[in-house]
Amino acid sequence: MRKFVLATAAALFASQSAAQAPAPPPKLLVVIAVDQFSANLFDEYRPQFTGGLARLASGTVFHNGYQSHALTETCPGHSTLLTGDHPARTGIINNFWVDQSIGRSDKNVYCAEDESQPGTSSTAYKVSPRHLLVPTLGELMKARWPASRSVAVAGKDRAAVMMTGHKVDQRWYWNGKTFDTDVQGTVVPKIVPRFQAALAAALAQPRPPLEAPAYCQAKARVVPLEGGGKPVGSGQLARAAGDLNAFRASPELDGDTLALAAGLVDEMQLGRRADPDLLAISLSATDYVGHTYGTEGEEMCLQLLEIDREIGDFMKLLDSRGINYAVVLTADHGGKDIPERERLAGVASAVRVDPALSPAVIGKKLVAQLGLPGGPGLLGDSSFGDMYLDRRLRADERARLLKAAVAAYRAHPLVEAVFTASQIAAVPVPTTPPETWSLIQRARASYYPGRSGDFLVVLKKDVTPIADTSRYVATHGSPWDYDRRVPILFWRPGAAGTTIEHSADTADIMPTLASVIGLPVPQGSVDGHCLREVPGASCPSR
Ligand SMILES: [Zn+2]
Repeated sequence: MRKFVLATAAALFASQSAAQAPAPPPKLLVVIAVDQFSANLFDEYRPQFTGGLARLASGTVFHNGYQSHALTETCPGHSTLLTGDHPARTGIINNFWVDQSIGRSDKNVYCAEDESQPGTSSTAYKVSPRHLLVPTLGELMKARWPASRSVAVAGKDRAAVMMTGHKVDQRWYWNGKTFDTDVQGTVVPKIVPRFQAALAAALAQPRPPLEAPAYCQAKARVVPLEGGGKPVGSGQLARAAGDLNAFRASPELDGDTLALAAGLVDEMQLGRRADPDLLAISLSATDYVGHTYGTEGEEMCLQLLEIDREIGDFMKLLDSRGINYAVVLTADHGGKDIPERERLAGVASAVRVDPALSPAVIGKKLVAQLGLPGGPGLLGDSSFGDMYLDRRLRADERARLLKAAVAAYRAHPLVEAVFTASQIAAVPVPTTPPETWSLIQRARASYYPGRSGDFLVVLKKDVTPIADTSRYVATHGSPWDYDRRVPILFWRPGAAGTTIEHSADTADIMPTLASVIGLPVPQGSVDGHCLREVPGASCPSR
C-alpha cells in the first residue's frame, strides 16, 4: 500500500489471545475477490505465501470452491459472491450479451451499464447496477440495520457494481485513468482526491522491475507464442512512466485498490459502530497478468507473492485499528495457462482456437449457403458461449439458420457440445454438488431468458479461445474446472485452521456470512447454502 495510508497505523492490535467464549459477531465483513485466482494457483502457491494469504489460509479453507456456472467470466462471477445466487437468478449471464430490441445501433449490452442513456454504447457506457436482478448482502444488511454501510473498491467497475448492487454508500473503481464512482448524491470522502493526486504522481514516474525470489526465478523461461504475440514467461512487471496498461497488469493496481479501501475504512470508521458494515474489494491485477502473460511464468509468480504481501499489510492496518472484522477471500473465476507452455508441461491437448469458429465467419457462410437475406446471420463476441440469431430474419428463416448453425458448430473438431436455448431451459437449475454437474447443468446456471443466446457453444477442454495473441495470450470463460474451481477462504482472528475437502459454491458465501452476523436468510430464498464448518455460522438445518 502507498505509504501515506500506512504511515498513520498505530501499534498492532493484540486480540488473538486465547479467548474461550465465542467471539462476538464481526462488525466489519471484508470480502475480497482476487480476479482469476484459480484453485489451481492457490494450491500451487499456498506453501509460498507468508503474508495475508498465509493468514487467510490459516482459517477455514474450501480449496474446492466453485463458480459453478458455465460462462466463467468476471461479471457473472462477481454477481454470485454476495447475492447467494447463480447467474440464472442474478441475470448477469456474461460480461456482455446481445439485445437486439434496444434502440441504439450497438446491440451489445455491457453487464454493468445503463443502455437506456442517450449517446452510450457497450464500450462508452454509463456505469449502472440496473441489470443485477437480486439484492446483495450489503443491501440486506441495510434493510435489517439502516445505519449499516456498504462500500466497494475494485480494479473494475463491474466487480464493484456486482458485489454491492443498487444501494451503496461508496463505490470506487479504476476506470483506466483514475479511481472513479457511479454513485451520485453522496459526499466524496476527503481521502479520495488526496489519493487520486498521489496516484497520478506515482503513475507519472516509471516503476523498476520487481526483484524475483528464487521460487519465481526458477519459473523464468521465455516461451514463444503462436498468433503473433511477443514471447512471455520471464517478465518482472516493470512499468514505463505513464504506462496505464502495465499499471493494471501488475500488483501496483491491487496495492492502490487496497490503499483506497484502507483510507475509506479510516475516514468512514467502518466496523467501529454498533451495526455491521460491509467492505467489498476486488483485486483485478491477477486477471490482467494472467491475460497478458499466462499463469505459469515468472510474471504471475511475482504478482501472487506481491498480493500476498499487500493483503497482509491491509490486514495489519485493520488489526491496528482494533476493528472486529472477518475476511472472506475468493475469486470470480479460475483460469488457465497459455497452451504453448502447457504443451511443454505435457498437456498435449492444449491448443489455440480456430478463428473459423467465430460467429461472424460461420454466420456469413450459412447466410450464403441457405440463401437468406443479407446481414450477419449470427451475433456473438467470441468463438464460444452464447450465439444469437439475427432477429431481422423471419421465424422460418431463423429456424433453418439455427439448425444449420448448430450442425456446423457440432461438426468442428474443437467443439465439445452445442445446446439450444430450449434444451437448456428444459433442465432444472441443479442443486447437487457443483463438481457433479453435467455440461448442460452448468449451462443452465448461466441461462437467463431474454439475455442468453439462441444456442450455446462449448469448446473442448484445453482449447484457449484466443487465436490472435497480439493483445491477450490466455483467458478463462469455459465450463471446465480449471475455470470453475476457486478457493473460498473464511478467516477471523484466532480462528483454528481447517482445510475442507468437500466442495462449496461461491453462492454459499452470502448465506454463510449472513448467518455469522445474525441476518436471517430464509432457506430456499437463494441458491447458496450456509456452510456449517465456518466458525460463528449457525446454519439452519437442511
Ligand atoms: Zn475476472
